[in-house]
Amino acid sequence: MSATGGLIDLAVPGVRGLQPYPPGKPIEELEREYGVQGAIKLASNENPLGPSPRVLAALERAAPAIARYPDGGGFALKNAIARHYGVDPECVTLGNGSNDILELAARSFAGVGDEVVFSEHAFAIYPIVTQAVGARAVVVAARHWGHDLDAMQRAVTARTKLVFIANPNNPTGTWLERVTLKRFLEEVPDRVIVVLDEAYFEYVDESSYPNGIKWIGEHPNLLVTRTFSKAYGLAGLRVGFGASSAALADLLNRVRQPFNVNSLAQVAALAALEDSDHLERACRMNREGMRQLTEGFRRLGLSFIPSVGNFVSVELPLPGREVYERLLRQGVIVRPLDNYGMPRHLRVTVGLPQENQRFLEALAKAIAASG
Ligand SMILES: *Cc1c(COP(=O)(O)O)cnc(C)c1O
Repeated sequence: MSATGGLIDLAVPGVRGLQPYPPGKPIEELEREYGVQGAIKLASNENPLGPSPRVLAALERAAPAIARYPDGGGFALKNAIARHYGVDPECVTLGNGSNDILELAARSFAGVGDEVVFSEHAFAIYPIVTQAVGARAVVVAARHWGHDLDAMQRAVTARTKLVFIANPNNPTGTWLERVTLKRFLEEVPDRVIVVLDEAYFEYVDESSYPNGIKWIGEHPNLLVTRTFSKAYGLAGLRVGFGASSAALADLLNRVRQPFNVNSLAQVAALAALEDSDHLERACRMNREGMRQLTEGFRRLGLSFIPSVGNFVSVELPLPGREVYERLLRQGVIVRPLDNYGMPRHLRVTVGLPQENQRFLEALAKAIAASG
């Protein structure tokens, strides 16, 4: 193979131009690279309370069985999800995180020559899965940092196979109301699969915020995704699910790996679902932490995008990347947003009260420091 070509020419066209998803910097990496101790991470929208104690107990009980393959059909977890959300088990697709479901949707429905519609400043996985399957991304300009559903509707063509909608959206924290979203579902052609990503559903505390799962009976082309990574505190185990018509779930299940959700993740998700008190504690702590952060921004004279999730994006007087670096040197990891087309913003996850406080103090120093 030539030096200029080589292996990359062997990859399918979509993969050749692909940039990998940039994850939040792990604490250990920061401590290793910057020589700091006691760093905090508010960069990946993880639950600062950790998992429910019931999850930890269930994991301990389940650990000796890991020599066995997991239940590939996820019988117990699927049934528990079905009961919890009032749907048939045939309507549930389990995923290795909800990212897995997003990718399954792309692989099942989109290919070369097809179009996939999503919003500017939307979740970074949408362009990646679109490009990986060789489809064309149609990126619709955002409105007030959020999805412009009317414009997204107009962007749908005969070639559109898939629309991704994040409600609320990450990294902006913006959200869509029930009436707006329902109208979109009514008007979009049935042949277009609508993926409604509700990764932060549990945190949202707004009366006009819809539960997309309620609509799967009326819209066979609707796929709602949920995750145990955020409010349930199981990000490290990788488990999420899709809720859809049984026909749509059947297609996703043809594509997914037979054992895509490991046995410990299944057991943990089941236990997490049963501990509503822990979930409530996490949501309460998030509301208080959000208030703490946004009041801190106001005191610093910084504007931010009002968010209903467990994170908030703040606008800075200098490039976000620069402030990100200055925060790293103080042992605080947040998320720069230049790859989201938001070079003046940083996204911070709501942490424990003392973590929020430490971030705000580090931020004050970072923006006060000149050059
Ligand atoms: C975090 C996140 C997900 C889910 O991630 P998983 O850990 O794979 O479940 C999905 N969508 C959005 C918008 C997210 O922010």
